[in-house]
Amino acid sequence: MMKIDVLTLFPEMMETVLGESIIGRARAKGILNINFTNIRAYTKLKHGHVDDAPYGGGRGMVMAVQPVLSALEAVKEGEKKPFVIYMSPQGKLFNQKIAEELLKKEHLVFLCGHYEGIDERIIESSVDMELSVGDYVLTGGEIPAMAVIDCVCRMVPGVLPEEEAFTEESLYDGLLEYPQYTRPEEIDGRRVPDVLLSGHHKKIAQWRRKQQLYRTWKKRPDLLKTAPLSENDKKYLLKYKGKRRKDAKYIEE
Ligand code: SAM
Repeated sequence: MMKIDVLTLFPEMMETVLGESIIGRARAKGILNINFTNIRAYTKLKHGHVDDAPYGGGRGMVMAVQPVLSALEAVKEGEKKPFVIYMSPQGKLFNQKIAEELLKKEHLVFLCGHYEGIDERIIESSVDMELSVGDYVLTGGEIPAMAVIDCVCRMVPGVLPEEEAFTEESLYDGLLEYPQYTRPEEIDGRRVPDVLLSGHHKKIAQWRRKQQLYRTWKKRPDLLKTAPLSENDKKYLLKYKGKRRKDAKYIEE
């Protein structure tokens, strides 16, 4: 079973979020093994500090080497080297493909920074990957780490009720998902598309595929460059060639 360790200054915050709902239930059932380690518990610095002023001056504080590396040492399993991820706005932009790669690792360790970040020498000596959740800056690595952990863990077999639950979703096959509807059939004059009420599985599947292509063309055309497309998909997409996205809804199905 994959093991996840998180090194953080705020384990309770993360326990609260990842102790709830689907991930919380999977942990309770023993399908997921996620542990939180408080970096502060490992500091040898004065007054229980975990940070210090930056060399060279400037604002803020920097997380020091010793507490982080001691916490990392504590979660290592014997001689085995875990895959260590530092959550950072300077990292690779996280996406579904990276999540699938992480799913193959035996032991993941997430390092959550705070303040001005961590001493660069920790990254040099001990980090395998820096990961960002977007081009914006948050106060700490906990929220980014929780996003990544949630995304990876929901692909662990047994966490979601059916495998289709994630293989049919947005981005898994490189496209956005088709629109979803539930009861009632009509609300404020807006009807559920007839085909979804037809019970005709093949037609429903074809309609959904077209919707995926249409939505991806409209909302995220960049994805079409890399999505695996069949000849039929490509033929269908030709109707949107040269069309303006804002006119999309006027183009006949
Ligand atoms: N001074 C750092 C810099 O400019 O690269 C930013 C430090 S940020 C205020 C504090 C911590 O939040 C970082 O060490 C990192 O762990 C986390 N963090 C902030 N934004 C993030 C993002 N977009 N993705 C991942 N982690 C982020």
